[in-house]
Amino acid sequence: MSNVFYQEKFEDRHNGPSSAQVEEMLTALGVSSLEELIQQTVPTQIRKKEPLKLPKALSEVAYLEKIAQIAEKNKVFKSFIGQGYHDVVLPGVIQRNVFENPGWYTQYTPYQAEIAQGRLQALLNFQTMVSDLTGLEIANASLLDEATAAAEGMFMLYSARKNKDAHVFLVTPHIFPQTLDVLQTRAVPFGVEIRVADIAVENLTDDVFAAFIQYPAADGTIADYKEFTAYAHDKEITICVATDLMALALLTPPGEWGADVVIGNSQRFGVPMGFGGPHAAFFATKDSFKRNIPGRIIGVTTDANGEYALRMALQTREQHIRRDKASSNICTAQALLAIMASFYAVYHGPKGIQAIASRIHDLTKLADAAIQALGYTQHNKAYFDTLRFDAGDQIGTLKGEALNHEFNFFYLDQIVGISIDETTTFQDIQTIVKVFAKIKGKTAHDVDLNALAAKLQVVIPEELERSSAYLTHPIFNSYHSESEMLRYIKSLEAKDLSLCHSMIPLGSCTMKLNATTEMVPVTWARFGCLHPFAPVDQTSGYMQLINELNDWLCEITGFAKMSFQPNSGAQGEYAGLMVIRAYHHSRGDFDRNICLIPASAHGTNPASASMAGLKVVVVKCDERGNIDVEDLKAKAIEHAANLNSLMVTYPSTHGVFEEPIVEICQIIHDNGGQVYMDGANMNAQVGLTSPGYIGADVCHLNLHKTFCIPHGGGGPGMGPIGVAAHLVPFLPNHEVVEISGEEGISAVSAAPFGSASILVISHAYIAMMGSEGLTNATKYAILNANYIKANLEKHYPVLYAGSNGRCAHEMILDCRSFKQVGIEVADIAKRLMDYGFHAPTVSFPVAGTLMVEPTESESKAELDRFCEALIAIRAEIAAVEQGQADQKDNVLKHAPHTARTVTGDDWDRPYSRQTAAYPVEYLRMNKFWPSVGRVNDSQGDRTLICSCPPIEAYAEA
Ligand SMILES: *Cc1c(COP(=O)(O)O)cnc(C)c1O
Repeated sequence: MSNVFYQEKFEDRHNGPSSAQVEEMLTALGVSSLEELIQQTVPTQIRKKEPLKLPKALSEVAYLEKIAQIAEKNKVFKSFIGQGYHDVVLPGVIQRNVFENPGWYTQYTPYQAEIAQGRLQALLNFQTMVSDLTGLEIANASLLDEATAAAEGMFMLYSARKNKDAHVFLVTPHIFPQTLDVLQTRAVPFGVEIRVADIAVENLTDDVFAAFIQYPAADGTIADYKEFTAYAHDKEITICVATDLMALALLTPPGEWGADVVIGNSQRFGVPMGFGGPHAAFFATKDSFKRNIPGRIIGVTTDANGEYALRMALQTREQHIRRDKASSNICTAQALLAIMASFYAVYHGPKGIQAIASRIHDLTKLADAAIQALGYTQHNKAYFDTLRFDAGDQIGTLKGEALNHEFNFFYLDQIVGISIDETTTFQDIQTIVKVFAKIKGKTAHDVDLNALAAKLQVVIPEELERSSAYLTHPIFNSYHSESEMLRYIKSLEAKDLSLCHSMIPLGSCTMKLNATTEMVPVTWARFGCLHPFAPVDQTSGYMQLINELNDWLCEITGFAKMSFQPNSGAQGEYAGLMVIRAYHHSRGDFDRNICLIPASAHGTNPASASMAGLKVVVVKCDERGNIDVEDLKAKAIEHAANLNSLMVTYPSTHGVFEEPIVEICQIIHDNGGQVYMDGANMNAQVGLTSPGYIGADVCHLNLHKTFCIPHGGGGPGMGPIGVAAHLVPFLPNHEVVEISGEEGISAVSAAPFGSASILVISHAYIAMMGSEGLTNATKYAILNANYIKANLEKHYPVLYAGSNGRCAHEMILDCRSFKQVGIEVADIAKRLMDYGFHAPTVSFPVAGTLMVEPTESESKAELDRFCEALIAIRAEIAAVEQGQADQKDNVLKHAPHTARTVTGDDWDRPYSRQTAAYPVEYLRMNKFWPSVGRVNDSQGDRTLICSCPPIEAYAEA
């Protein structure tokens, strides 16, 4: 036979087990085929009969050709649109060594601090940078986008308001329209009134709890709000400010004039626009709000050896603990992008940032002077980077002329806006002048740019000129040569365990392969350099990509349409519930406010439900971990008049395909509710069944779990929602770019398609896997999980299984009995680090357990290594149980062991150094050293330090 038609399959690269390994694993499980295992696992009733209708799988080479053709349809014009998005220069050293580096983008959220000190430091740098530039004491390590950050700010200030009768959020008319849109969505369920009115003291009426200022304003003007803020504070009204970090290099920071909360987007710090994202929003506030601040905060503490160590602080505030009492549902944020922005600040330092900001400002002033010299009126007196010119009825001609030069300006009625950024050159200003000159029948020669450049006016009022220093910490003043920067990045990367080292078996988080080919197009300019509000005829590549992905995901989920706005799973939940709300209202059902949620649900479910204004009623689980159908039925009937929805994860977070799921959906529908499926576990459904097939009405997909977007150390993510036909009219619209009908809810994200640029990753995955590949991935995910279960259940009790004793794609290892001898699940998690592994999910959904999810991407060899580690650890626990090892002074309690500890001159432990660091053979070939010993959680929370402490602090310690 000829090999001319042989084609390598991507599927064989994505799926870990080889066919020989599959056979071995099936034998170990006592089944004769993969299909037999699947039949034992997935209830027949929900098995889809037809294979997925998807295009034939492409090879990696063929996909790159296809996506290059799609990219060609995107036109990269120079953007002067502004509106919160600016073109940037991403330093090569950051692009190659962070953005394009799996050592950074495949990391998990840093819950296991000892093997995450690198990204924790980078995120602490981000917080320090935000804190310095905004002039506020405390900042978090990123939110999803500027608009949702504004909504979080509003909600935090609403919850903390002194005057409980006040319900008005006074919003400047000069706010970005997309921010206003998202504020409106978030305000509705709480009866918060968004009142758009001038930032003037007479508008601070008694019903106002906080005011929202944009600085510089959406039109580019800057003003002094010091008196206004002082007056508001006198009336116990708080102030939330949206700002631009680059502008703050030159302007008095809002913290210095009294702002309570300062939010914005850090995109300008070296993160491409990406047609809307991903980029990291920031949130800074006063110390007094530290326990209310949404999102993750990185804090300084010490490790078991008393050394400097970092961790995520105040985790007790997070939604996974506070559930429906949580003040925010934010889970996945924008860690990777915050890390990039922080490196941008490290690389440029305060002088570099100041120089970039000043150049932007001066080029803006030059454009202002030149265009005014041509006879145009410019509206902004005081500004940083944005100008507004009257174009009168010439606006159309001017627009046409700008497009001829491939320039995009901002247009509103007869006004043309120009925002200058870091990429703008002197030549660009010449071109702009040429465009404006032509309309007046003049030429660029009519103005002498060089002469104008020599005598630029001051346009920042003295009281708004920044006088305070920023980025003074040595970290921002040490790594300005590329060699130093490269080594700094690498030194941090080396502290972190990622998928580059070993499997990350995080239950519910699906840490599968993020293939290189999927990642390659993300950094192409034709995806990276598009403004989200660019004219539609420049974005047809993106539209094709999004439409194809929409069709494929509809086929996979069994739904009618997707919305790509939500930037995370939790945001998808919120969006989906708001869609359900609109649906009920459209039918005159205004009182449906009860949301049933099983006890096993992820904490974001109740948090999202309460954000959507719903009351959570918890449904019990039975002793086998399944939803107690009788309890569900009773509660559905009891609340039938007010039943809004059920939120259900499938297969359940207990790792089981619950058989009565169809009946469960029916019960909800019979009682007037809608079924919201949490799609975090879609990796066990794709190709075998689907939320639509099962009977759900809405579902979010975590594209950063099932569909290969990397976790990036805690974001980016994408949480698009799919809906059944009756809900399509209510999908989110967008104020700037119309994407839904009249009945659509207002926006849930700043950008019309969320973090659009990373959609290419999921697009690539589906295109290269095809129907068979995707379905096989699901089967292998189930095979791998059951193989681990078979290997480990002799050593650790496995909680919950289906009726045939099979788990779905993940399983829960019960570690609670070890408590009797003082061994906590955390000790196992930390000890796994000594064995070179990241712990599975700890204590979710059951306290004291580990939830293991191997994914399809791991080979049998890697699964065996992981099992070997856990079995060895079990023997270490047995030594404690049998009294051979002390309950407190043992290898588990002292884990993890750093190289410094193990090689130190003092060694007084009751076990050997070899046992500490090289307990199993495979480590001789490949050892990962945790960079710090066990971190002290409570100390870090007692004295919260969330920006880089001065060097002297370590010297003293
Ligand atoms: C990950 C996860 C979520 C939240 O998704 P994010 O993208 O982190 O917001 C919700 N539910 C379950 C079951 C999850 O595993």
